Amino acid sequence: MEQKKWHQLGKSELAETLGSSPEQGLSPAEAAERLAAHGRNELAEGKRVSPILLFLNQFKDFMVLVLMGATLISGLLGEYLDAITIVLIILLNSVLGFVQEFRAEKSLHALKELSAPMAKVLRDGQQLALAAKELVAGDIVLLESGDRIPADIRLLEANSCYIEESALTGESVPVGKHAAAIQDDELPLGDQRNLGFMGTMVTRGTAKGMVVRTGMNTEMGKIAGLIDQTESMETPLQHRLEQLGKILIVVAVALTIVVVIAGIMHGQPAYGMFLAGVSLAVAAIPEGLPAIVTIALALGVQRMIKRKAIVRKLPSVETLGCASVICSDKTGTLTQNKMTVTHIWMGGRKLNVTGEGYDINGGAFEDGAPVDLKQDTSLRRLLHISALCNNAVLYKEEVAADANGKKRKSKEPQHEWVMKGDPTEGALTVLSTKLGHSAKSLEGLYKREKEFPFDSERKLMSVVVSHQGGRLVYTKGASDVLLDHCNYVLWEGKVTPFTATLKRKCAEAAEEMAQSALRVLGMAYRDLRSTDACDNERDAESQLVFVGMTGMIDPPRKEAREAIATCRRAGIKTVMITGDHQLTAEAIAGQLGIMPRGGLSFSGRQIEQMTDEQLDRQVDNAYVYARVSPEHKLRIVKSLQRQGHVVAMTGDGVNDAPAIKAADIGIAMGITGTDVSKEASALVLSDDNFSTIVSAIEEGRNIYENIRKFIRYLLASNVGEILTMFLAMLAGLPLPLVPIQILWVNLVTDGLPAMALGVDQAEKDLMQQKPRSAKESIFARRLGWKIISRGLLIGICTLGAFWLTLREAPGAQQLVKAQTVSFATLVLAQLIHVFDCRSSRSIFHRNPLQNKYLVFAVLSSLLLMLGVVYIEALQPIFKTVPLGFREWCLVFVAAGIPTFLMGIGSVLGSRKPKNKQANMSLKPNSPLLRR
Ligand code: ATP
Repeated sequence: MEQKKWHQLGKSELAETLGSSPEQGLSPAEAAERLAAHGRNELAEGKRVSPILLFLNQFKDFMVLVLMGATLISGLLGEYLDAITIVLIILLNSVLGFVQEFRAEKSLHALKELSAPMAKVLRDGQQLALAAKELVAGDIVLLESGDRIPADIRLLEANSCYIEESALTGESVPVGKHAAAIQDDELPLGDQRNLGFMGTMVTRGTAKGMVVRTGMNTEMGKIAGLIDQTESMETPLQHRLEQLGKILIVVAVALTIVVVIAGIMHGQPAYGMFLAGVSLAVAAIPEGLPAIVTIALALGVQRMIKRKAIVRKLPSVETLGCASVICSDKTGTLTQNKMTVTHIWMGGRKLNVTGEGYDINGGAFEDGAPVDLKQDTSLRRLLHISALCNNAVLYKEEVAADANGKKRKSKEPQHEWVMKGDPTEGALTVLSTKLGHSAKSLEGLYKREKEFPFDSERKLMSVVVSHQGGRLVYTKGASDVLLDHCNYVLWEGKVTPFTATLKRKCAEAAEEMAQSALRVLGMAYRDLRSTDACDNERDAESQLVFVGMTGMIDPPRKEAREAIATCRRAGIKTVMITGDHQLTAEAIAGQLGIMPRGGLSFSGRQIEQMTDEQLDRQVDNAYVYARVSPEHKLRIVKSLQRQGHVVAMTGDGVNDAPAIKAADIGIAMGITGTDVSKEASALVLSDDNFSTIVSAIEEGRNIYENIRKFIRYLLASNVGEILTMFLAMLAGLPLPLVPIQILWVNLVTDGLPAMALGVDQAEKDLMQQKPRSAKESIFARRLGWKIISRGLLIGICTLGAFWLTLREAPGAQQLVKAQTVSFATLVLAQLIHVFDCRSSRSIFHRNPLQNKYLVFAVLSSLLLMLGVVYIEALQPIFKTVPLGFREWCLVFVAAGIPTFLMGIGSVLGSRKPKNKQANMSLKPNSPLLRR
């Protein structure tokens, strides 16, 4: 018999063929064996640059090649020592460049690994979240809307499941899927409705399936061949710096040519001047800049990961520092997402529910007295809907740690109630269990036939259950939405037509609960007659009988309030965008300090009635948007952007992707977010927490400032080096530095100190300044002036020290001494300057010892400088002599003058009042200030 295709197999045949169980999945041991035998579930990736190639790339630089050529000439002319030393220095420089680039490359790769896709898998009956690449044939995968399918799977269950397969078939309309076997032998992919293919996306519903093919054996693998996943990670700043680098090369080479010509005209030997010129060009070109920028970005990103923010798109790190508005979801991001039902409202009755969290101890009370459930058919109905229109599970788990995360001392096993699933549903599961009507206790009474899963657009969820020979629809959802689907109400235990008066009473009760910051969920049901169609949600969710409502608390996150206040000080506005009730949203916004006096809130319906122009007029004064659907989010982002804002926007649902993509910084939730929202995002919050966004913004600002710091350092140093030589040639003086010294200065000062600046701590007032403009040049805020003025001072002081030493006595010996003095002055001036660069003001404004890496880098550089001055064997190579006390005094004074002068200037300057504080820079009538 010919072998059947996957789509032709029934469930039991499938399980047998793949040696797996639809209920339990594989055992971890079996899965590990299969993984070892068949390899990872990955598509082949393009090759990465090999380390050897990376090292060789270091020599591709034009000026380095010229220097090598010059060295070769000096070698041929018999200057062996010079030639060998220069080659050694070039090699050392290349090793440093290689280490920088290798590190940068490795960090970028690690970043990509972090955002690798995950899958929900059953192993030994336990649901686990695994990296998708660990999947093997026979694994059971659980899918919900927004999931990217991790391998080719044969569906075992499908609940209103639609999958968008355009990546494979080109068909952009999602196709409905089912779990039944299809007998046809030859079927095109698009018609294999009981299979889900790797890389396609679940747009609606839920499903469960068994993996049948992985990695390159999947349909995607067959067409993908080699996938080049090296998405460009270059940031706009890196791009601009690359351009700047090219300009700097031209400037450096031009100046070098002038220096060489001036030197020759003043009688310097042509060959010596040529070598000095090329060395100067090599030193003056900040070839390490791009690698250091990448390292600063990558290390900053590592710090963000520690603070629970995972960057998916490197360019967003820069944009983070410019964010002026954060639009945040409410549930789970600003609130704890730990819901507990505290109130029930049914047909005019108000009940209180006691108990905390997921603990099942507690009860229901009416006017202070316990409710008698045996007599209360309405409450029983409400509990049955709560228990059955629900996918959350509650179980006891042994806990090893106490509430503070510390290991428990007692040997007795401790157990705690744990919930798996949607917290809203979890709260309802706890409620029904607490009051003795858990789903488990109802198993014999009901059988679930169908589910119409919750989606945030419909804001409802329904199940069809069979019960005592009949069928029922149980529905729960946003109370105001559900009311529109109900024609009857359960009032005083009887099914009564839903008159306008009764509907108004229900709506008022819902509003009252919402005003107390409760999340309100309505419950309804319908008895289906045998003739009633119930194939889609529209049929199922009509003619319902309204039973009542539950009100659940979801306390605000403690750290969110502080984070919102930090944002306000940093000139960043926080806006809440939620699917929840407007009054609940306003109440929670009030508790969190989001809503200022006079601030506005809008509902999705109101947004729909506004034109874009009307929205643009209101958007600056609005702080809360409630009952919004994903399209509203997109309109809000665009409107804010039209007002000139840089918008960070969170989202978790399958339909949030367009808004996340449109935002300047799209943010997805690591825990509750769908794959689709994560793929669209630039940043993923691994703890779903609002305050993590603020930490990321802080890091983003710091990374940018650190990049500015080492650009300031490197360029000022280079300007200093060039000017020392340039001014000397103009003044007709001998060479203040010999070529090897120039190269050594470059090696000693450029590498480690600049890298240490890249990981510098933030300045204290970083989050008290308004966001920087996205259009701001890297040289803005007087950076260009600081570079040129400092470079000029370093150049003049170095040359001054050279000249003072030179004029003391005639002769070649004195020239060597003077050159050693200028060498030491130049190195020291730069090493002092590096501490200056840590502060936007001056060295006197920050503790210089705070950055340990910098202290270490500066000490090592000092030792390297002293080494060539004092180690006898090196003196003839580097053309140095030991310096006496007088010379060292001169070196220290000359090297210290630039920092001293700039420091004094800055201290005097900071006496004048400055409008630096963010809130001072806001307009006096800005809503941010009206509090
Ligand atoms: P946010 O956008 O801030 O995360 P949210 O969680 O309230 O807010 P949605 O998940 O879109 O947003 O929910 C919208 C409304 O749908 C909720 O206010 C609630 O009334 C209802 N709802 C939420 N979860 C469920 C569910 N599992 N079943 C039925 N209705 C639900």
